[in-house]
Amino acid sequence: MKKFELLSLPYAANVLEPVISEKTIGFHHGKHLQGYVNNLNTAMEGTPFADMELTEIVKKATGGMLNNAGQILNHNLYFLQFNAPKNDNKPVGQLAETIQSQFGSFEEFQKAFVQAGATLFGSGWVWLSADNEGKLVISQETNAANPVQKGLTPLLTFDVWEHAYYLDYQNRRPDHLNALWQIVDWNVIEGRYQNR
Ligand code: MN
Repeated sequence: MKKFELLSLPYAANVLEPVISEKTIGFHHGKHLQGYVNNLNTAMEGTPFADMELTEIVKKATGGMLNNAGQILNHNLYFLQFNAPKNDNKPVGQLAETIQSQFGSFEEFQKAFVQAGATLFGSGWVWLSADNEGKLVISQETNAANPVQKGLTPLLTFDVWEHAYYLDYQNRRPDHLNALWQIVDWNVIEGRYQNR
């Protein structure tokens, strides 16, 4: 019987400080994400979903199965896109060019992305995705939704559930979102764009 496992972080839990504290990583990765993994493993046991890849479950499941699978897919993409804080951290390669041509500049893209995250009511995720032609799309997805449900390839995501930032930023969600630009690993995002 297949079981999903908790993602291993490719960096130490304190590497993202001060943008995301070690304490937040401990709860967010070690408790919240672990909880979704445990819930999905229990829920899919003895069902046709037990033989599916995670993305397939997210496209086909409903209810609690969808919520837990979606949260695992979302968090795996989220945690794998970060690295130690860098000044003047910017997109690279073809993605940098597409951002420039579609949004006018990286700064305009950042504003639109943070605005989408800041105005998402309640819990959810803000996403940058690509369609089949490589066109970029910013979307707000509530709860555990993922752009794969709309046929898009997810590239970058900021988690706006309070558990993602409350220990470090309390109610200051926009401050948290603006700080996250320092830790985005744009090589990872460009890789996702190339492999879409
Ligand atoms: Mn989260």
